[in-house]
Amino acid sequence: MQVTPSQVTKLIDEFSRLPGIGPKTASRLTFYLLRGSADRALSLAEALRELHEKVKFCSQCFNITEMDPCPVCSDEHRDRALICVVEEPLDVLAIERTRDYHGLYHVLHGVIAPVEGVGPDDLKIAELVERVRTANNAIREIIIATNPNLEGEATAMYIARQFQGNQQPKLTRLARGLPVGGDLEYADEITLSRALSGRSEI
Ligand code: ZN
Repeated sequence: MQVTPSQVTKLIDEFSRLPGIGPKTASRLTFYLLRGSADRALSLAEALRELHEKVKFCSQCFNITEMDPCPVCSDEHRDRALICVVEEPLDVLAIERTRDYHGLYHVLHGVIAPVEGVGPDDLKIAELVERVRTANNAIREIIIATNPNLEGEATAMYIARQFQGNQQPKLTRLARGLPVGGDLEYADEITLSRALSGRSEI
């Protein structure tokens, strides 16, 4: 006999698949939603439905966006010869907060992490190489702003190697001064601003 309605076990299963959520938390969330109003649950369902329906990746920089190309890529006042390479969409927000950067972005969607089975092909690295190639020397500089940890450094080096031997673009890395092991998205604006202006060539 099935004691728990299948709709309940289904939602618990779905929550359990999310990162950092064990079966216990999954049950807690499910019963929380069940006890709460139907409107509340529906509003969550609606947000989930719209996530993939409305949000897409920019075909140029791979940031998340409602319109393609994204507002940054289609902004004519930005410096189109400058590309800042970041790990995640949240890093774009962090750099935008400094108000000191006026170039474009390229979002990798992760870093090379062999332990977790993430290789270069799982990231938007080939897309970056292609983007620079089709720009025909119009890209002056690529700032590699991956996080200052092991994976971030390894990814920066891998990207630098893809452009080795080319005169253009110049490849730079954010200045030290960001907390080692810290994530870009948690850096305060002043630290990030300094790291940007003090960047050095790889
Ligand atoms: Zn874009």
